[in-house]
Amino acid sequence: MKIHEFQAKAILDTYGVPIPKGEVVTTPVEAGRAVERLGGTAVLKAQIHAGGRGKAGGVVLVSSPQEAEAAAERLIGSCLVTHQTGHEGRVVKRILAEERVTVSRELYAGIVLDRRAAQPMIMASGTGGVEIEELAANYPERIIRVVVDPAAQLQSFHIRRLLSGLALPQPVQSAATGVFSALYRLFQEKDCSLVEINPLVITAEGRLLALDAKLNIDDNGLFRHPDLEALRDPDEELPLEVEAARFRLNYIKLNGTVGCMVNGAGLAMATMDLVKLVGGEPANFLDVGGGASAEQIEHAFRILISDRSVRVVLINIFGGILRCDRLAEGVIQAVRSLQVTLPIVVRMEGTNVEQGKRMLAESGLNFMTADGMQEAAEKAVEASQQAVQGSTCDVQSS
Ligand code: GDP
Ligand code: MN
Repeated sequence: MKIHEFQAKAILDTYGVPIPKGEVVTTPVEAGRAVERLGGTAVLKAQIHAGGRGKAGGVVLVSSPQEAEAAAERLIGSCLVTHQTGHEGRVVKRILAEERVTVSRELYAGIVLDRRAAQPMIMASGTGGVEIEELAANYPERIIRVVVDPAAQLQSFHIRRLLSGLALPQPVQSAATGVFSALYRLFQEKDCSLVEINPLVITAEGRLLALDAKLNIDDNGLFRHPDLEALRDPDEELPLEVEAARFRLNYIKLNGTVGCMVNGAGLAMATMDLVKLVGGEPANFLDVGGGASAEQIEHAFRILISDRSVRVVLINIFGGILRCDRLAEGVIQAVRSLQVTLPIVVRMEGTNVEQGKRMLAESGLNFMTADGMQEAAEKAVEASQQAVQGSTCDVQSS
């Protein structure tokens, strides 16, 4: 789960990481007042769950309350497109108004889970800021990486190694030590998958300050943190994914045209691989779970086909606890009540498979069936390509 910058900063504050003074506002008038309280000059920062705001015009320096009001007027309700939002962008609903600081240096500090080492990895760089992605791509050696064994915890030698590459002035070193220890503690205690301060700045007065903050929490650890769960912003999540979560369906939207309905994460991954292998692109990952009810199947179906880019539905189910007859019942029910016109390819195997197949055949609906996974994937991809061609013609003739 992602949270907003202002929320991440509030958490950093409780861990003793210095942050700029600021207020969250939702209207231009509030923005003007907040900037007045901040002394007249400030930075307005669009609060969306994506980085790259600086380059996209989502971070605005203002020098008076009037300017703040005008800038907020432009920002609030606007759609901000950054390199992290995708082309659809995000609507700005809140602004963080912050005291403006004079920056003398921008550093980078972050912690991620290093999957290869299966341990947290602290990263630091003496040159942070909006160009960090280019730095990571072109000069990876300029980012210092230190892996910490959680059983042995963070030790002073880890921090010395991080500091050694940052060339910090002496007075800032102890503050930086505090920041790294705090970040590590936060990463562990809040079950984070990412903690990032970019930029971590040294101000003209020599203060160390977290100018930006990003914090992702591992969804699997969220049950331990109701306070963090409360920070969830449904406006920032894809509506179909929110809807799927309500019915405890594991759904992730992707960019292809083959809608996949599968039970079991492993089978879902294998199905997506096969779709790609035979030249198609999956529109989603969907694991309806082992014990899905006919009702859940119907919800899954509805969510799947609400994605406008889906051209064909590929159902690949291994009937174990979820028996094939129950699946067939759910699918038939869904196709009838939702009046689905998309082509549907069904491949199922397992408990009561004969009964399930009979139900599909006798339903009077138009299902394509397949005996193996490969055949199913091929039929689906073929149907998706025909459908795409068909719809292009429709557009041309209309
Ligand atoms: P991001 O682009 O979404 O990562 O947003 P950031 O919060 O990192 O802001 C982008 C950039 O704006 C930062 O890297 C800074 O260079 C600049 N910036 C933000 N706040 C201030 C400020 O108070 N003073 C100055 N001089 N620059 C700032
Ligand atoms: Mn940033």
